Amino acid sequence: MTMISSPMPPRSTGTAHECGGGRAVAVPDRRHVLSFLHRLGFRPGCAGFLSFALFALSCGVFGLAHARDGLAGGVQLPDWKTVEVRAHHLRGPVWYLEGFGGNIGVVVTGRGTVLIDDQYAPLTDKIRAALAEITKDPKPRFIINTHWHPDHTGGNERFAKAGAVVIAHDNTRHHLRAAEFDPEMPELLRPHVESLPIVTFNDTVTFHLDDEEVVAFHIPPAHTDGDVVVRLRDSDVIHAGDACFHGYYPYIDIENGGSIDGLIAFWERLVGGLMDEDTILIPGHGSPMTRADVAAYLADMKSVRGRVAAAMKRGEDLKTLIARHPLADLDPKYESEVVEEADILTMVWRSLERTRTGVRDLGDDHAPPSTHATPAGGH
Ligand SMILES: [Zn+2]
Repeated sequence: MTMISSPMPPRSTGTAHECGGGRAVAVPDRRHVLSFLHRLGFRPGCAGFLSFALFALSCGVFGLAHARDGLAGGVQLPDWKTVEVRAHHLRGPVWYLEGFGGNIGVVVTGRGTVLIDDQYAPLTDKIRAALAEITKDPKPRFIINTHWHPDHTGGNERFAKAGAVVIAHDNTRHHLRAAEFDPEMPELLRPHVESLPIVTFNDTVTFHLDDEEVVAFHIPPAHTDGDVVVRLRDSDVIHAGDACFHGYYPYIDIENGGSIDGLIAFWERLVGGLMDEDTILIPGHGSPMTRADVAAYLADMKSVRGRVAAAMKRGEDLKTLIARHPLADLDPKYESEVVEEADILTMVWRSLERTRTGVRDLGDDHAPPSTHATPAGGH
């Protein structure tokens, strides 16, 4: 697949919108973030799979007039027929499906099958076929969306019409609903009303199933402001959605509430107690991670944050920072066409600008302010 680059558009500010209960919710201008993602591609041969390419593609076609003839804004659409959906067994009743989009978690229980994310509508039949190979009950009863991005929610509508109950955080439903009415949203990716989660929550929801206790909980803004992490307590597996990438710099959806400090706080929480040495973590993209993997990633990304914050404190501008390649030592491990050095520097910079905490207490070892305390009893 060839991904065509486009220049980064100017930063947008979003608007205010009244939503449920009269609560003011910032409606981001998706055109910015998704045009940014349009630049993304994937690293051939990397464990990040083709999924990233479509993630980028799906987001990139937002803001474009239409998609036709297999092309959207100059980006080659995938031939869905050639996409393979593969099932990987992790532990007990837990699997994950690798296809084209975010990794799908699967929990097979005596009380029904649970999916965590569902990639794209054109892949629904292939996902069903993959499920049929691992369970006699392949029809999902519940689908949990980890966040609103199209590569994680595109299958909602078809599965919902077949009877699945879709569950997500309040903000994720809000973002999907906003996309539904976005006139610039290509039909290919428009989330119709049937795809909206019919159950939403603002903190935690627990599924008491025969073979697995499934706990879905919201984390403070990290990848987006609607992130949900799913903990499979009996199997000791966590699906982190895009709050974890494996082998890439993170993507921070600033326009939808994402935050580098939120990501760091979440990774610290994983290493500090949510994971032990036996825990398996399914990232949104990339291969499964151990606690040691997350710890190494955390250390490197804290260093990235520290370098950006130090530059801000010195009065350096972003352009100068990017020009001197401050991440040359980390790029071999994390840089890709998905998120290049300039991209992660820009996202961290903008995140720190927004929090106003970024220019205090700086340095590579700087620990970001904790934005969340684990409730009593944890998750
Ligand atoms: Zn995402």
